[in-house]
Amino acid sequence: MDKQRRILERGTVAVDNGKITSVEKTGEVKGKHKAERVIDARGRIVLPGLICSHTHLYGMLLRGAHLDIDPPTDFSQILQRVWWPMDEAMTTSDAYASALIGCLDFLKTGTTCFADTYSGPNSIHLSLDYIAKAVRQVGIRGILAYEATERHSPEEGVKGIEENVRFIEKVGKEREKKVKGMFSIHASFTVSDQLMKSVRQLADKYETSVTIHASEGLGDLYHNIEKYGKRTVKRLHDVGVLGPDVVLAHCVQLNDDEIDIVRKTGAKVAHNPMSNMLNAVGVAPILKMLKEGIRVGLGNDGYIFDGFENIRTTFLLHKVHHRDPRVMDLQTVLEMATIKGAELYGLEKEIGSLEAGKRADIIVIKPDVLPTPLTPQSVLGHLVNTVDGGDVQTVIVDGEILMENRKVLSVNEEGVNAIAQRAAEKLWERLGVIKPHVEYPRGSSNIIMFDQGKV
Ligand SMILES: [Zn+2]
Repeated sequence: MDKQRRILERGTVAVDNGKITSVEKTGEVKGKHKAERVIDARGRIVLPGLICSHTHLYGMLLRGAHLDIDPPTDFSQILQRVWWPMDEAMTTSDAYASALIGCLDFLKTGTTCFADTYSGPNSIHLSLDYIAKAVRQVGIRGILAYEATERHSPEEGVKGIEENVRFIEKVGKEREKKVKGMFSIHASFTVSDQLMKSVRQLADKYETSVTIHASEGLGDLYHNIEKYGKRTVKRLHDVGVLGPDVVLAHCVQLNDDEIDIVRKTGAKVAHNPMSNMLNAVGVAPILKMLKEGIRVGLGNDGYIFDGFENIRTTFLLHKVHHRDPRVMDLQTVLEMATIKGAELYGLEKEIGSLEAGKRADIIVIKPDVLPTPLTPQSVLGHLVNTVDGGDVQTVIVDGEILMENRKVLSVNEEGVNAIAQRAAEKLWERLGVIKPHVEYPRGSSNIIMFDQGKV
């Protein structure tokens, strides 16, 4: 993923002090470096860690839940009947538990950096500290935000923004390397123009990114047309919130005029194909955006955390949507999951490729089943069509080995699973969903559930 998009057959990546110091052909590198540690990756694929441009770690706690509700018929009802009751039941301990299991899933499937938006109207204050604690324990990178919304009241919006300001100042003071803060606005149909203007001013002041769900379902579009007489992206533009530091999630319902606004303002787009399919909202006009030079990254929106599944879905979805197998190529989807994701959050000088000078975020992949030879010509095809997250053997973030030969070194996996399952069980009970009976693994765990307020 360097500028020339080179594929090295028999290459060597040298790492020192958390940074990549060289990427060369193995023959050229011999004798140049004295390594304390050598990882033999012969027969394997070495790739920059994947970047998830949009997620909700708390979505993990709803996996497999049997909801006793009338099946939602559209995206607005999915929010009303599923996500909003759930986020209202969330505690900061749940935020911690979901972040632990979400980060573990990311680590085990090769994602080394993600942008998360947390929502929990009854657990706003300190929520980002709880999530950050989990991110640090697992050891990958996280860009974290609380989702400001005025769903219940304007005060709720203020509290959400305040949590972001508090967290951005805190991580700034502590000069965090792996955890960053940003601002998040839920969506234009749950916030006022005033809230968006406030966030714009604060993002300028703190020089951080802003993320907004934009035109995901038709409800967002119709709300803006009926109440403001304009389409969603036009309203965001007229309010003045758009700019190169803005990441718009979804952008499913955009027309050509709105795509033009996104391009002109330099705003970026996080594409979440699997979530869009799950919620049946439609197919985002990604090909048009790419043609216009808009930067598009890949997100999971809290649904499937394996980046390779999201890569494969993106590869397939646009082909069938346009009934043309030529429209989405291997290179483009892999870029969306790596270097483009870094560009979305202004991190392209730090991560997203294997190049000297960048942070050492590296994954080593060994396909479990390899039906055809692995060559420089076939490697992209294998990455998109053969590999899944379970083939990721070793993960390095900032030069630190977090998983080696599929053994997670940073946290106790059983402990993390137990914490998440306990939190989900209690959450489901609060939601009046089901009464699960699960035996939890007991024994040593290097993670201790802590009381609220002690972060
Ligand atoms: Zn989302």
